[in-house]
Amino acid sequence: MDIIVLSPEATEEQIQNILKRLEQFGFKTTLSKGAERTIIGVIGDTSKVTEDEEERFKVMPGVENIMRILKPFKIASKDFKKAATQIRIRDYVIGGKAIHVMAGPCSVEGRDMIIDIARRVKDAGATFLRGGAYKPRTSPYSFQGLGEEGLKYLKEASEITGLPVVTELMDPRDIELFVEYVDIIQIGARNMQNFRLLLEVGKVNKPVLLKRGLSATIKEWLMSAEYVLSQGNPNVILCERGIRTFETATRNTLDLSAVPVLKQMTHLPVVVDPSHGVGKWDLVPAMAKAAIAAGADGLLIEVHHNPPEALSDGEQSLRPDVFSDLMKELKAIASVVGRELM
Ligand code: PEP
Ligand code: MN
Repeated sequence: MDIIVLSPEATEEQIQNILKRLEQFGFKTTLSKGAERTIIGVIGDTSKVTEDEEERFKVMPGVENIMRILKPFKIASKDFKKAATQIRIRDYVIGGKAIHVMAGPCSVEGRDMIIDIARRVKDAGATFLRGGAYKPRTSPYSFQGLGEEGLKYLKEASEITGLPVVTELMDPRDIELFVEYVDIIQIGARNMQNFRLLLEVGKVNKPVLLKRGLSATIKEWLMSAEYVLSQGNPNVILCERGIRTFETATRNTLDLSAVPVLKQMTHLPVVVDPSHGVGKWDLVPAMAKAAIAAGADGLLIEVHHNPPEALSDGEQSLRPDVFSDLMKELKAIASVVGRELM
């Protein structure tokens, strides 16, 4: 018993009764009013509901039908919600007609640096600023990010340019800082299955950009999204960033087929990160274009004013002028597939 379809004549009082009854069972609920039907999504472990109990729900006034979702990810699935999830962030909507490009350096390296890059990517047409303040580095001796100082610089860059900020959270202890400083909380590939972290970001009122794990299947990835959704945060953006395969010519293998696959399976918006996908700046433009053609709702692209001197991921970072040229091409591709890029 995962979805309760209401009859078109269901009154407000009847709906409230059904919601109350579900609450008594310990379930959370979502009410989605569609053009033709209103449905109640039941959140929680519904497998415990017995057939008799389900039968009693079925005969409640206002109920037309009750459905079970057999997929292990429930709230994330298209059975639960057909319409694409649209996430409003300041003046923008992710998951609508507009394609959003989130651009900036791998790491925030300093105040002037992030403000300068923010201005340049904005001029080129990016609508979000990316930049890591807490970095998940393979070596403990590599640059680990500026931490809270980095978050402050991101916020200042955001105030100057008007670009909302997306940045990675690694530790639930930092969550309050993130709520204060950032617009989208990024969960990195290495933390895709850090379930405690996922539960925590599920409890806050900030959109979450969930990167695909290094070796995660699409199903595992959606189960991770489900962790966030199950806590009441409906605003999850999936980000394909390449997976580990036997191929060594590129840093990862960017699984662009994940985009149309996800579009069949889920209503959540999908963003592609070609930078970590290929690991080499001169391969990024081709895959960025392909991602839009494949139906992505946005891109995450690393841009640095001086890639050879970057403190992380310089090899895959675009110079601002290359990024700017790419944006013009992306605009053309977006219009061919019926989308818009500002
Ligand atoms: C990043 O976006 O800089 C990053 C560390 O990405 P990922 O988690 O995909 O490796
Ligand atoms: Mn990076």
